[in-house]
Amino acid sequence: MRPLTFDNRFVRELPGDTDNVKLSRQVYDALWSSVTPTPVADPRLLAYSPEVAALLGWQAEDMNDPRIAQIFGGNALLEGMQPYAACYGGHQFGGWAGQLGDGRAISLGESVNAAGQRWELQLKGAGQTPYSRRADGRAVLRSSVREFLCSEAMFHLGIPTTRALSLVMTGDKVMRDMLYDGNPALEPGAIVCRVAPSFIRFGNFELPAQRGDLGLLAQLVDFTIARDYPELQGDTASKRAQWFVEVCRRTAIMIAHWMRVGFVHGVMNTDNMSILGLTIDYGPYGWLEDYDPMWTPNTTDEHGKRYTYGQQPYIGHWNLARLSDALMPLIKDSSILQAGLQAYADTYTETFGEMLAAKFGIVTLSDADAPWINQAFELLHKSEVDMTLFFRELAEIELERPDLAVLNSAFYRPELFAQQRGTWEAWLQLYVARLQQDGLSDQTRRTRMNAVNPRFVLRNYLAQQAIDAATEGDNSQILALLDALRHPYDEQTAYAHFAEKRPEWARHKAGCSMLSCSS
Ligand code: AMP
Ligand code: MG
Ligand code: MG
Repeated sequence: MRPLTFDNRFVRELPGDTDNVKLSRQVYDALWSSVTPTPVADPRLLAYSPEVAALLGWQAEDMNDPRIAQIFGGNALLEGMQPYAACYGGHQFGGWAGQLGDGRAISLGESVNAAGQRWELQLKGAGQTPYSRRADGRAVLRSSVREFLCSEAMFHLGIPTTRALSLVMTGDKVMRDMLYDGNPALEPGAIVCRVAPSFIRFGNFELPAQRGDLGLLAQLVDFTIARDYPELQGDTASKRAQWFVEVCRRTAIMIAHWMRVGFVHGVMNTDNMSILGLTIDYGPYGWLEDYDPMWTPNTTDEHGKRYTYGQQPYIGHWNLARLSDALMPLIKDSSILQAGLQAYADTYTETFGEMLAAKFGIVTLSDADAPWINQAFELLHKSEVDMTLFFRELAEIELERPDLAVLNSAFYRPELFAQQRGTWEAWLQLYVARLQQDGLSDQTRRTRMNAVNPRFVLRNYLAQQAIDAATEGDNSQILALLDALRHPYDEQTAYAHFAEKRPEWARHKAGCSMLSCSS
């Protein structure tokens, strides 16, 4: 196994707490605590991402080394690793939740590859930390498979995200409440190694701000700018101002992408918002099947409906407003913070507008397009239409002979389609007339649409099938899904079975598309 070079700036440059006591506690005057992963019984590598391995400078022969399962199962450290858990707080479901911290995530260190890129390695589910509160610090196989597959799927869809290097089964059992029968059950444990340039969240800034510890807050802000935003220029005050605007801009772009592909994060608490604008914390996330802006995969959000698909752009803004509250004592000038929030709104509107145009195969949208676009989404909702299939098949419309039949595979309830056929026909007329204004050929339009409308997303039931097989000791479906999701915009007829709409048995099935955060 080729050695990795570590340069652990987070623990070197920022104050930490080195008690190494695992008991849950409040941690003051420190941004991290040193902690060691708790060993597991029998770690086995179920899957790895070759692209992420390559980012570190590793190839198949490195990943096939038996020490890989030991290291990424938490039983051994590589030279240069300095494991720690980060101290952060957050607003959860709209309220301040106090200190949270990495309760089951343990960062191993910042590896620097041959090109000088910095990749932090972090185990999720590696045992208790000072931030575990009453929980066990572990993760179950189902949530780990979901995080592993979805991080890589999002990357290949072109969406900013944390990555996943490895999926290791621990050989230990973990106790969790299974939601559908209410009884505790023993489940296989697993650990994902996540990889990102930084795992700093909005909540890392909020906690020192809430505690009035401005020294710590300033250290973290300036560290983040120096390490993760080296392109910003100017004096300290100017860099801080530019930085907040850039965080807002990146967050807007990330959420516009979620909306483009029908991804619903499900727990957009401020402790789950990356300061780099990366999708982070794959918990109860889900993908829209039939288009429904009010859908959320989060069972604990059923009544509030705070974290639905349609709310995501607003919650992104709300979360940035909480970050701006935290930065206020440092940046002081509220017009700077306002400018950032405005940049969020403007960037979102512009980016999502461009994406919508591309999804429908239009060159540029104008206000005049709003009626037929709104009507399309209304129809998608009313007729129970699969969002992914709809946009993919819409590209098959031929201007000479427009025919709704190309959309047949996208309808969950053909009887609803039949009832609304007249409205659909009228909509198609408007759409075709609009396409004709642009004058693109069918082929050009199709190519452009297929570059933004994926054929493959991680459908909730597919992840569940791969989990069920893995629980029985068969990891082949995880590998097949990972492979299919590496080329989400290609037809890949060999994987056509992964592109079908959700089967009826998976409709609203508890335990399949509904999950809690902390599994
Ligand atoms: P989440 O809802 O996944 O963002 O988690 C919220 C907080 O709970 C974070 O501080 C997590 O580290 C912590 N947490 C979640 N699950 C566990 C667990 N099994 N053991 C320890 N801490 C956990
Ligand atoms: Mg979290
Ligand atoms: Mg989580």
